[in-house]
Amino acid sequence: MNLKDKIAEYPNFPKKGILFRDFSPILKDPSALSEIADEFSKYFHTKDIDVFAGIESRGFILACILAARYKKGMMMIRKAGKLPGKTVKLSYTIEYGKDTIEIQKDSIEKGQKVLICDDLLATGGTAKAAAKLIEKVGGKITGFAFIIELTDLNGIKGISNYNCKSLVKY
Ligand code: AMP
Repeated sequence: MNLKDKIAEYPNFPKKGILFRDFSPILKDPSALSEIADEFSKYFHTKDIDVFAGIESRGFILACILAARYKKGMMMIRKAGKLPGKTVKLSYTIEYGKDTIEIQKDSIEKGQKVLICDDLLATGGTAKAAAKLIEKVGGKITGFAFIIELTDLNGIKGISNYNCKSLVKY
């Protein structure tokens, strides 16, 4: 199956000039869903992963699909202010300003091996911040799993010291 056929394109969404790549058609297709799990299983070994971390919000979906396949747990990296209990935050700069992400303090134990998941790698700002936050609480990054990578934006540069795998490149 060509996974590219299962990625929809929406020009000028959510604002003018952005070509939004939507992986919803993959989610509707059971064989595409198992294919993405198959592809990542060929790349990341189960012994190198204790927990999958999903970046809000579509990263949650990929992290859950892979956690179920690898029979591991999953944790959420959320926008600030959405998680209860003790949390750890990290702020990072974006094009116009600042964004903050947050995890629950007890979501990872020191030394646990974490595979960070998101639907798409664009500038890499979010991914880089996610790695910093996981490391701040003592997690070890096994790598990154993306369904889509926008190579023109060269987001991979900021996370090139990690093991990164994307399934569809534009
Ligand atoms: P970045 O921090 O620039 O790598 O942005 C990555 C995040 O923004 C991902 O979580 C994506 O879900 C979202 N994103 C950025 N660009 C696009 C795009 N062209 N189509 C769909 N989602 C995008």
